[in-house]
Amino acid sequence: MQNQDNRRRLVVLGGGESGTGAAILGKDKGWDVFLSDAGTIPARYADTLRAEGIEFEQGGHSTERILGADLVVKSPGIPLTAPLIVALREKNVPIISEIEFAGRYTDAKMVCITGSNGKTTTTSLIYHILRHAGIDAGLAGNIGNSLALQVARDPHPIYVIELSSLQLDNMYDFKANIAVLLNITPDHLDRYDYKMQNYVNAKFRILQNMQPTDAFIYWQDDPVVSAQLRRISTEAAIYPFAEHREEDTAAYIDAEDNMIINTPVSSMSMPCADLALHGLHNLYNSMAAALSGCLLDIRRDDIREALSDFAGVEHRLEAVLTSADDVEWINDSKATNVNSCYYALQSMTRPTVLILGGKDKGNDYTEILPLVREKVTAIVAMGKDNAKILDFFGSHTDLPVYDTHSLDEAVARCRRSAAPGQTVLLSPCCASFDLFTSYEDRGRRFKDAVRALYSE
Ligand code: ADP
Repeated sequence: MQNQDNRRRLVVLGGGESGTGAAILGKDKGWDVFLSDAGTIPARYADTLRAEGIEFEQGGHSTERILGADLVVKSPGIPLTAPLIVALREKNVPIISEIEFAGRYTDAKMVCITGSNGKTTTTSLIYHILRHAGIDAGLAGNIGNSLALQVARDPHPIYVIELSSLQLDNMYDFKANIAVLLNITPDHLDRYDYKMQNYVNAKFRILQNMQPTDAFIYWQDDPVVSAQLRRISTEAAIYPFAEHREEDTAAYIDAEDNMIINTPVSSMSMPCADLALHGLHNLYNSMAAALSGCLLDIRRDDIREALSDFAGVEHRLEAVLTSADDVEWINDSKATNVNSCYYALQSMTRPTVLILGGKDKGNDYTEILPLVREKVTAIVAMGKDNAKILDFFGSHTDLPVYDTHSLDEAVARCRRSAAPGQTVLLSPCCASFDLFTSYEDRGRRFKDAVRALYSE
């Protein structure tokens, strides 16, 4: 198929933030752009596409037209096993991600963050450090505006990009100047043939194309990351961080509870007590962010100030309120897997009533059992089907385990169960889609319900 004016044909699959951004960038760069979405395109993106004069369809794919593309930019949400993607691959049509596409049109410095947990927090921290230092940085990936849209309409000399494994899947020539790998625990395995190694390989794509002048920051104590690093090699300079100093460790906590950062560019120390974010997991996130800041040659005072006044990210161990009778309520709705709940529990300093439940992703609760036994006084299961949670904690602990099926029921139960001096923690280990539209919806409704409890 030949289009009339011989322009190269770009097909964008998926009409969300990244697809719409890629379509706009493609149009600006002279591609003949067609966007196709099998579902419904949110109104704001459909309006933008119309205003930009970009042709699109929704509710189905015009397969023949799509198969005639010279290049396809695919939303990370579309699995490689979707029939259309299989057909495109059979025809050898190149399929890339929006980040890969945008990377082809900018020379900006790229700071990229991946990992199973902590990406948004660490990405936001690094961005906050750069903005605090007065640097014109862009925030992209899973957060904010797409990289493609920014490259097209609001370019910056440096971007801080959150990358999920699904985004990394279709990246080939893209290069990070600084890559941060926070940790790897099982997640999204349904997208990787239920093979952990496939997921690990996807995460390690963040290293591809890196040169000796680039930096790879990673958590040294992660067994999965260490094992993979023994198998592969990278040209990038490495900057591991760990709780305790080991060989090569570039960031660690010293005996006086200071965070120590050592890089050839600059070094710094800072009392952990001054960090805005608490808990061991956030120490790791803060170390990764401070390492990035030092390697970008940001003034140490700017790094320290930014790490101490960071406001946190909504739905990640977010303090909701502490009642007059001293019950503290915390919203950690983003804890959609067992590992993130583990770190949430680890950072609890008071006896805790724990709200668990939602759509189970094949959870194994054994990982949090010791912390539950140590810190939790009651479990409130909140979901359509709580059988697994009731069975597991009913048989492995002596704790009361309550069965609730709505947010209001769960919050009311927590209020009865939490004594003064205790904390109620929503850190559900599960996706939200049984009772809510998203983890954000779950977190906001939780906060509203908690505030309503005490405004009566
Ligand atoms: P992501 O963007 O990777 O999903 P977030 O920063 O949104 O990560 O945090 C998700 C959840 O993981 C939160 O509940 C938080 O408490 C927990 N978490 C944050 N950082 C880490 C870390 N470094 N290791 C393990 N869990 C973490």
